[in-house]
Amino acid sequence: MRTLSDLLSEGVRGRRVLVRADLNVPLGTDDDGNRRIADDGRIRAVLPTLTMLREAGAKVIVCSHLGRPKGAPDPKYTLAPVAERMAELLDAPVAYATDTVGDSASEVVGGLASGEVALLENLRFNAGETSKDDAERTAFAERLATLAEAYVDDAFGAVHRKHASVYDVPKLLPHVAGRLIVRELEVLRGLTDDPKRPYAVVLGGAKVSDKLGVINALLPKVDKLVIGGGMCFTFLAAQGHEVGDSLLESDQIDTCKKLLADAGDKLVLPTDVVVGTEFSDDAATSTVAADAIPAGQKGLDIGPESVALFAGAIGEAHTVFWNGPMGVFEYAPYAAGTRGVAEAVAKVDGLSVVGGGDSAAAVRALGLDETSFGHISTGGGASLEYLEGKTLPGIAALQD
Ligand code: ADP
Ligand code: MG
Repeated sequence: MRTLSDLLSEGVRGRRVLVRADLNVPLGTDDDGNRRIADDGRIRAVLPTLTMLREAGAKVIVCSHLGRPKGAPDPKYTLAPVAERMAELLDAPVAYATDTVGDSASEVVGGLASGEVALLENLRFNAGETSKDDAERTAFAERLATLAEAYVDDAFGAVHRKHASVYDVPKLLPHVAGRLIVRELEVLRGLTDDPKRPYAVVLGGAKVSDKLGVINALLPKVDKLVIGGGMCFTFLAAQGHEVGDSLLESDQIDTCKKLLADAGDKLVLPTDVVVGTEFSDDAATSTVAADAIPAGQKGLDIGPESVALFAGAIGEAHTVFWNGPMGVFEYAPYAAGTRGVAEAVAKVDGLSVVGGGDSAAAVRALGLDETSFGHISTGGGASLEYLEGKTLPGIAALQD
């Protein structure tokens, strides 16, 4: 796989270089109702690549998706606030195009001088970006590719997607991997190539169906698989417990039953749960046993006994990968589980990796020291699919 250093050694002065970044930052709303960047970690993660290109005199054209707009412009998902934040972090102007491959993009790109940076509008405002139809994707990729003379992929969080900007554009332009992708792959290799044992994986987050494949693939490879977050309730239901109004994917209960039967004592589930009905910073909550969730209540965090149990499993391990918050950490009454697990992961004697946009955001939002983790990955889905041993379309495209 060719990397940014290879491209730079060929010389990029005055050349237009398209950088696919992952600027899919979590957005919140400020007191005036404006969309605000809740965590700028993903913007900061691509700065080394941007800075190297600028210093080498490239005309840098950055593109990214943000959220899940439906293939058409949607002001809720504009990258405009990201352009602003990027300019602050780079301490340099960022020319912002109000479209991706239209008149504004051509004009902005045409006006770039050596060392200057432009940001295109959200890739997913174009149906071609995520289309399953090869021809439709290629058509969009061709329009993107005409903007530049070389392509750098630094969007680790998107390499598991067969999307135009990560899969098709590299077929049309000389292509290399950026600094972030190289670093992410190095660290993940440390998890898959002979990890120091015990090896524990901690999974949380919202959807079981997203992560069942991962659990299946990882069970034979790990010594402990710890499950919290919204996904634990389908497992608790599979054990025959009532889960009240907690997140539940009924159609996955049978799969969870089978996983429980196969996993032996590798699977660790919460023994107590923080329940509530409200999503707010002053919600009334109570802590109940995991097999006694009252009707009408939602399980929104793991309880203190579970934190101790999980921290024990994590503390014994010498290699730990954690993806997915343990609770709805965005609200203070449901943040303790994620904090407890994050603190345990930070103390691991060995390699600790945090993966996932929301998990990384949680680490920072809870004020934990980022440097106490071995690595904070920008990609949740991407890192999980890598650990599963799947081929990542964006990485395969860089290797061709
Ligand atoms: P990541 O981005 O780190 O891969 P996910 O996107 O899978 O993580 O999941 C993050 C979301 O999961 C958070 O927004 C959090 O509020 C939510 N979540 C965690 N626990 C629960 C729960 N018990 N019920 C509902 N949502 C939950
Ligand atoms: Mg997420």
